[in-house]
Amino acid sequence: MTANPVYNFSPGPAQLPGAVMARVQEEFLDWHGHGVSIVEMSHRSRAFTGIAEQSVRDLSALLDIPDNYKILFLQGGATHMMSMAPLNLCNGSGTADYLVTGNWSKKAAGEAARLTGMNVAATSAATNFTAIPDPAEWRLSEQPSYLYFCDNETIAGVEFQSAPELPDGYEDTVLVSDMTSNFLSRPVPVARYGLIFAGAQKNIAPAGLTIVLVREDLLGRARPDVPFLYDLKLLAEHGSMFNTPPVFNWYMAGLTFAWVREQGGVEQMHRNALLRSGKLYEFIDNNDFYSNPVAATCRSRMNVSFILADSSLDGRFLAEAAHNGLIELKGHRSVGGMRASMYNGMPETGAHTLVDFMADFAARYG
Ligand SMILES: *Cc1c(COP(=O)(O)O)cnc(C)c1O
Repeated sequence: MTANPVYNFSPGPAQLPGAVMARVQEEFLDWHGHGVSIVEMSHRSRAFTGIAEQSVRDLSALLDIPDNYKILFLQGGATHMMSMAPLNLCNGSGTADYLVTGNWSKKAAGEAARLTGMNVAATSAATNFTAIPDPAEWRLSEQPSYLYFCDNETIAGVEFQSAPELPDGYEDTVLVSDMTSNFLSRPVPVARYGLIFAGAQKNIAPAGLTIVLVREDLLGRARPDVPFLYDLKLLAEHGSMFNTPPVFNWYMAGLTFAWVREQGGVEQMHRNALLRSGKLYEFIDNNDFYSNPVAATCRSRMNVSFILADSSLDGRFLAEAAHNGLIELKGHRSVGGMRASMYNGMPETGAHTLVDFMADFAARYG
């Protein structure tokens, strides 16, 4: 143990709110006087169904989710949803359009191409995923079942600033979004989406849980041979309990939702994210030693990537940062350099401490 706090900039599994972690520790062995742990209880017990119902109420309140949406808590990761979106929304024959703005949407598009007609409506591969193509250049297919995009590309740090607008004539095309790495970090106009999903381990709870919001009338468009655990309609009909849900993750997600509400909701999370990331971008832009290649119009509030002018100093930077309690700053292997991931659980002091360290490092080696 170090005396100073450790700031964990891991992209995921990532730092969760300290208050939530402490609460879990406190009630782990004996949940609210029941004499057993939450992980030892039936998912059909009154205690657990109470937790589940409260978590749905809290999430609905946080994102102002309309009544005609189902809220699911599913086993598995966001990657499962890359198969489930085409399996459930294309009736086995439709075409789905994809905006490819980074590694995650690229992966999703590749999976969709195996399962249905798939059209890449736009890609920023040519700029190494450092921009979002101008909507004027998107090539939508004629009647896509949905338009898929990744709201925040975790690897390069590219984020949509708002939900994409579909042109006239596309009223029947729904938006499908992977919000894994920016879920609950700002308000979302849920009614504009058909399907939203988020793996938990970036901003909510441990890995193994995916939260899904799906518009009710879309359930029933699955291809007939969809495996039952991939069938959103069946999962929704069973209240996410067709089989045993990941009870511990769900319980922790509920604690995180309550914590976000206490903090002032997603509006406050958005303000916090802008302060943390803004502090870092401003410093990077005003310093020759560091740079960030992402277009200013789509920089992520969650994942700030940056490179050192002299990459031979990367190892030293990471070692000294870790020595100062600033850990997990190494960039993704496909991009190199550094990446500071700062989700809801990252206090503002984490961003300040990182910037102070970066300034000091640049002064010594620049
Ligand atoms: C981490 C991440 C995923 C992958 O989630 P798994 O739980 O590993 O399936 C998918 N999409 C985005 C945007 C991510 O950040």
